[in-house]
Amino acid sequence: MSAPPASSTVLSFEDACRVVEEQAALIRAGALADATESVDLLWAAGRVLAQSVSADRDFPPFPRSTRDGYAVRAADLVQLPATLGVIGEIKAGESLDKVPSLIGSGQAVAIMTGAPVPAGADAVVMVEYTSQLQHQVEIMRGVSAGENVVPRGAEARAGALLLDRGLRLDAAAIALAASVGKSRLQVRKRPLVAVLTTGDEIVGVDATPGPTQIRNSNSYSLAAQIRRAGGEPVLLQVAPDEVQALRRLIEDGLQCDLLLITGGVSMGRYDLVEQALSELHAEFFFTGAKIQPGRPVVFGKCGNGYFFGLPGNPVSTMVTFELFARPMLEALSGQSPRPRTFLHARLKKEVSVETGLKRFLPAILSGAFEHAEVELVPWQGSGDVAAIARANCYIVIPADRERLSAGEWVAVMKPIGDC
Ligand code: AMP
Ligand code: MG
Repeated sequence: MSAPPASSTVLSFEDACRVVEEQAALIRAGALADATESVDLLWAAGRVLAQSVSADRDFPPFPRSTRDGYAVRAADLVQLPATLGVIGEIKAGESLDKVPSLIGSGQAVAIMTGAPVPAGADAVVMVEYTSQLQHQVEIMRGVSAGENVVPRGAEARAGALLLDRGLRLDAAAIALAASVGKSRLQVRKRPLVAVLTTGDEIVGVDATPGPTQIRNSNSYSLAAQIRRAGGEPVLLQVAPDEVQALRRLIEDGLQCDLLLITGGVSMGRYDLVEQALSELHAEFFFTGAKIQPGRPVVFGKCGNGYFFGLPGNPVSTMVTFELFARPMLEALSGQSPRPRTFLHARLKKEVSVETGLKRFLPAILSGAFEHAEVELVPWQGSGDVAAIARANCYIVIPADRERLSAGEWVAVMKPIGDC
């Protein structure tokens, strides 16, 4: 018995994002099967923290010099140049019993970056502004109290929360974990993401395609995107354009934490994904978004499993993953929500489009810091894999803009975490 195809619900980009965010929030609020594992800190980048990490002592644990120079009392340097008596030397890691316990008026201690500033001293003068002759140092510049010294506990107090559960670990978070002695971390297991590619014309990468066949690129680009977003791809066999077989493979894919189907969601006679999902009594949150590329994107739930139907054109597949599937995958991986990041750059050449769709067009971002420039990559439409391989970002064009002028600041989306 065949169910009727889903009735069409085409949302604006903003509404489609809202729907995805709502479902992501439900996942975060729900009783998650908190599957965790322990990983070595060396391999923790990109993983989602399943434990909190606190300061095991004050940071810094002593007043730390941030410069090579002389620890002094700032009040001794009112008259310049000033000559002070050098009563010792402190290098980083020096045991405290070798450090002068108190600096008196008229005294200084030679000190290195990272060394503890002795009591009595309240500032460090950089070595560049001094000249030492035997046991005396002449100082040419004054300092204010506190200069070049980080007070004990100023970065974090012992016991302070430094990294919270749900954080995706980057290099900075890993540095912090290392500095508080965490050589292993408890992290969330990666969610399994099934990838179901559809289409009678699709053959394997190693195959020699017939004259009208094409090789499967979407499963591979999706696997890369899934890994970068913190998931574990599970590639299913390619589904033919035939409802029964499609349905069986969809059922397999729904066993994973998320199912991504590519192809078969447009208006063609052999676009059967929605029909197969309807037969499985799927609930459709939307069956299209007013975007280009990627308009036919589908999002829904079948039983307890979420799925996306991503349009088969390779650029559409990549864009719709980035815009909609990634936020769901992040929620499923236990990550706390984070805002989407956009950059801005000056448009190199005028762009004209028709209004009505929000566009994410492959582009090249270049230039330096305050002179960021961006221009569209010439392309043959959303099937053009060669064009997107030349691009390093997308120019984002609002649905109501028809013409963007050269020199105008435009929004640029860089796929998060991509190189
Ligand atoms: P569809 O969304 O199924 O109508 O497919 C749209 C276009 O994308 C067609 O030209 C397909 O041949 C192509 N396509 C679909 N799936 C893939 C894939 N896995 N790899 C490369 N191209 C694909
Ligand atoms: Mg197809």
